[in-house]
Amino acid sequence: MKSFKSILEFQKHFDTEEKCREYLEEQRWNGTPCCPFCYSVNVSRFATNNRIFKCREKECRAKFSVTVGTIYENTKLPLTKWFLATYILSVHSKGISSLQLANFIGVTQKTAWHLNHRIREMLKENAPELLEGIVEVDETYVGGSLKNMHTIKKAKLKNKDNKTMVFGAVQRNGKVRTTVIPQASLENITEAVESFIKPNSTMVSDEHHAYTKVGKKYQHRKVNHRSKEYVKQEDILVHTNTIEGYWSILKRQIDGIHHSVSPKHLQRYCNEASFRYNNKALFQDERFAFAVGNCHGTLKYKTLINQ
Ligand SMILES: [Zn+2]
Repeated sequence: MKSFKSILEFQKHFDTEEKCREYLEEQRWNGTPCCPFCYSVNVSRFATNNRIFKCREKECRAKFSVTVGTIYENTKLPLTKWFLATYILSVHSKGISSLQLANFIGVTQKTAWHLNHRIREMLKENAPELLEGIVEVDETYVGGSLKNMHTIKKAKLKNKDNKTMVFGAVQRNGKVRTTVIPQASLENITEAVESFIKPNSTMVSDEHHAYTKVGKKYQHRKVNHRSKEYVKQEDILVHTNTIEGYWSILKRQIDGIHHSVSPKHLQRYCNEASFRYNNKALFQDERFAFAVGNCHGTLKYKTLINQ
């Protein structure tokens, strides 16, 4: 793919539905169209309407276009706007608020908000590998900073902080993974650690007791933050500075841009931030290509607001 120097250049390149559709077909199918219902590649393009394919399997015979079964299915929004929004979200270093996005692509804020969330789904890594080597773990509170919140919302919360706990694990010189948890209980921490980190890896945590039990499955090293111990030289350097550095990135993105994020949507914002961190070495266009290639599945507005 061509590399773009600016949003304007990107917009010029993807200025028609046809160009976007062609690119989507390439990204989704790698040049070999595949039936979204029976997964057969025995399909042909309609001569009269080249957007539509027909499955030639006797049992199936489905007609479909490239957007069926993707996040773009049944969308009223032109693909040109979708592409622009995806580009902005996947290349912008800190993401974008729905208000800014609405202005950028000329839609209502409600549409932009929904769009933003559906694109975040595309930034989610499906079946990521377990972290290994030296992995730092920690938990923190994110979102719901009262000072940014609307007075009415604040009153509803009776001035209690509306913060949500996030557990995170980062492999040194590797990737980060985060998950929203209700609290740092033994069960939640154990489950999160086991789902993120390969057994027998080195796990570095602070003194929090919830890590002790699951730590037996790992080479567990601890720093005691309560007694102001931050770095300890053993055979490795024992500290949790990497994950703490990541927390400040995450908080800048969430609290700085979106102001208040409701707990039920927080996981998606976390995915967006880890997508950027984990793909920081990629070029902007590669990040965009990855996002578009990951367009399977849909997230309907109703599902989104009823979660
Ligand atoms: Zn089929």
